[in-house]
Amino acid sequence: MRANAETRVAVAAALSAYGAELASEDAAQVGGAFTDIPEADALVKSSPEAFLLAVLFTQGVPAERAWAGPYLLSQRLGHLDLRALALERGAVDEAVCRRPALHRFKHTMAHWTSDAAARLLDRYGGDASAIWAGAPTAIELTERLSAFRGIGRKKAAMAVEILTRHFGVEVRGLECGSVAYDVQVRRVFLRSGLVDRDTPGDIDRAAAEACPAAPGSLDLATWLVGRQWCHPAHALCGECRLGAVCPRFIERSVEGVGARRVSADGTAPGR
Ligand code: SF4
Repeated sequence: MRANAETRVAVAAALSAYGAELASEDAAQVGGAFTDIPEADALVKSSPEAFLLAVLFTQGVPAERAWAGPYLLSQRLGHLDLRALALERGAVDEAVCRRPALHRFKHTMAHWTSDAAARLLDRYGGDASAIWAGAPTAIELTERLSAFRGIGRKKAAMAVEILTRHFGVEVRGLECGSVAYDVQVRRVFLRSGLVDRDTPGDIDRAAAEACPAAPGSLDLATWLVGRQWCHPAHALCGECRLGAVCPRFIERSVEGVGARRVSADGTAPGR
């Protein structure tokens, strides 16, 4: 059962308010959305190519680990040169896989990294910022990002949100964007009554209803609510930003679908 309309409006307003608050902060302060290694954090904020690789690395590992990936890879290789990343696939694989491996899905991530470098050279002249240049629409940008192996719709939505809200990239048609279909987002949408069914379509429609002007703007706030308070087994409702308005359907869980798979080794789901 969805929460009643009045409650859904209140939940949406609370999420929007939290999102606006986050958007006014420096990206590095956004609840640990980036890594806590200063050099790695600086790299993903200064290098569009490192940012893109960090998006690739955001797959089934804690966010901090994912966002540290490009920096740690550059330390092992001695560079983040796109041509070398594209052509020296064995070296990239060795660097990613060397213990301690830079990622849980080490070989896959190495392949995606080399593929991304090749695509950047081939389609964007070796400049990742060209992907989001020219004020694309949210749909166009999502499609461009999703054309990279390893970036699905969920990661593309996350990237669009970060680029627009925290890196000041101009993106048109944000009303056509959406939140990422992420385990944290799904859990919060279910428990707060914005949806009663855990499907991409239900989540998209609920986000559009909650924030028609820019559904994707709810993404980070929702994700942080899930990560900080709405834990799978321990909902900290008394401390939660939605605590005053949420109907607290805490018996609802998404763990049977995707979260259990990505959390089986104890890692928090990345995005
Ligand atoms: S922690 Fe509680 S109040 Fe917050 S979203 Fe989850 S169920 Fe709602």
